[in-house]
Amino acid sequence: MKTTLTDRTDDPIIISLKSELELLRYQLVRLAIRSLPQETDLYNALICRCETKAQFYQWQHDAIAAVIGIAAPDAQGRAHCPLCKEGRQSWGSYDDVGYAVPDGLKRHLLGEGKSAQCSILKVVFDLAQDRMRPKFDEEERREHEANNARRRTERLYQIDPSSPAKLIDDLHSLRGARNPEQLKWAETRLRMLGFESDLSGNVMTYRLPHAEFIILADPRELGTIEVRIYPCTPTGKPSRLAAWTRFPLPDPWKNDLPVKFKKLLEDAIISLPSRRGVRR
Ligand SMILES: [Zn+2]
Repeated sequence: MKTTLTDRTDDPIIISLKSELELLRYQLVRLAIRSLPQETDLYNALICRCETKAQFYQWQHDAIAAVIGIAAPDAQGRAHCPLCKEGRQSWGSYDDVGYAVPDGLKRHLLGEGKSAQCSILKVVFDLAQDRMRPKFDEEERREHEANNARRRTERLYQIDPSSPAKLIDDLHSLRGARNPEQLKWAETRLRMLGFESDLSGNVMTYRLPHAEFIILADPRELGTIEVRIYPCTPTGKPSRLAAWTRFPLPDPWKNDLPVKFKKLLEDAIISLPSRRGVRR
C-alpha cells in the first residue's frame, strides 16, 4: 500500500527532517536580515506576534511595507530586493535590473503577476503560518460553530435552488446587508413586481411565478436587489448543469420600474444558452 508523508508524521526520520528544515529556514532568514543596514527595525517588522487571522494578514501587509521602506531606488526608481537581493531579469541580457519601487517590488514580495516570489519573505511567511496554524484551526472551528448556531436561529434566504440558504450577511459586498427596515422596503418592491414570499421554517424564498424558469430574488444587499433565473429540468426541478443568469435591480430606480424589470427579465432569459435563437 502506498504511503504519503502525511501518513508518516510519527516517523522519527520525518520528525528529524522537519526539525532540520525549520532550523535551516530560521538560519536563512537570520542571515538575510543580518546583511541589512537597518537590521533591527526590519527584524522587528518580520517577527509575527499575531493571535488572530486578521492580525496575521495585517502583519503581512505591514511587513511588505517595511521591506519596501528600506529599498534604495536608483535614479530610474528601481531597486533590488533588500531581502533576497534579486532583481528583475531584463530581456536579452544575463544582468538583472531592480524592481520598480514600490509596485514592482511589491509584486516580487507577494509573488504576483509574472514575478517569482521573494524566497526570503516566503520563508518568513511560511514559518509564521506554520506557527499560527493551531490558532487558525481553533479560530476556524469557533467561526464554524458560531455560523452553525446562527443558521439554526436566524432567518436564512434561499437564493439558489441547488445550494444551502444564506445568512443575511453572507455576502461578497462592500455595501453590506440591509437592516430589517431596509429589507421590508425591498420586500414591498418585490411584491409590487409580482414576487411571492414563502417562509418555510426559518428559510425565506422570494419567487416570481413562471412556467419555465425558477426566478428568485436576493434582496439582502444594501442598495440593490439581485434577480436570479434558473432553468428547470423537464420535471420542474432546478437543473444543476444548465447555465443560470442574474441581473441587478438598483434601489434608486423608480420611474417605470415594472416596464424596466420586464425588459431586463426577457433579455436575461433570452441570454441563457438553452434559449438562444428562440424567438420571443
Ligand atoms: Zn526578494
